[in-house]
Amino acid sequence: MRLKLREKDKVSTERRPSKTVDDYTCINGKSLSEQTIYDYAQFIPHWDTRKEIGDECFVVRCVNPYNHKNMDEHPSMMISKGEKKNVVIHCRLESCPDIQILEYFKERLIGEVDAPRSNVRDPKKYKADKNGNVFFKTRHGTPFPVPVSVLNKLKEGSK
Ligand SMILES: [Zn+2]
Repeated sequence: MRLKLREKDKVSTERRPSKTVDDYTCINGKSLSEQTIYDYAQFIPHWDTRKEIGDECFVVRCVNPYNHKNMDEHPSMMISKGEKKNVVIHCRLESCPDIQILEYFKERLIGEVDAPRSNVRDPKKYKADKNGNVFFKTRHGTPFPVPVSVLNKLKEGSK
């Protein structure tokens, strides 16, 4: 069950709060700093192909595949449980900044972007528009366009 916790009208004034980013309340009711690897995992499209390389330490295809050759066919993104932080994320590719990855998760965890979940990968279920975009329909928020070509690439890669 997803709850809508933010009021639309207040967004503009709340975007630059004095509180730290970790105090944001996420769509699952926990604060951003309380999220675990598995809360993050629901927004990792290729989570099911992850490799566990240690205790609660995984390598998985990057959430910013466009930064990578072949859509990050050889997974580059590491996600693990840290000592001080619940979740530590790092992409091994230098030109794929961690800040961009953190933003990706933050936007989704706090519900700013209503994104497809990791189980939404099968393009057969969706119809493309004339520009070749598939819009993931969600219960609220703006439909999330993903080009069919990208979906097909992701799908090929996940086999
Ligand atoms: Zn990356």
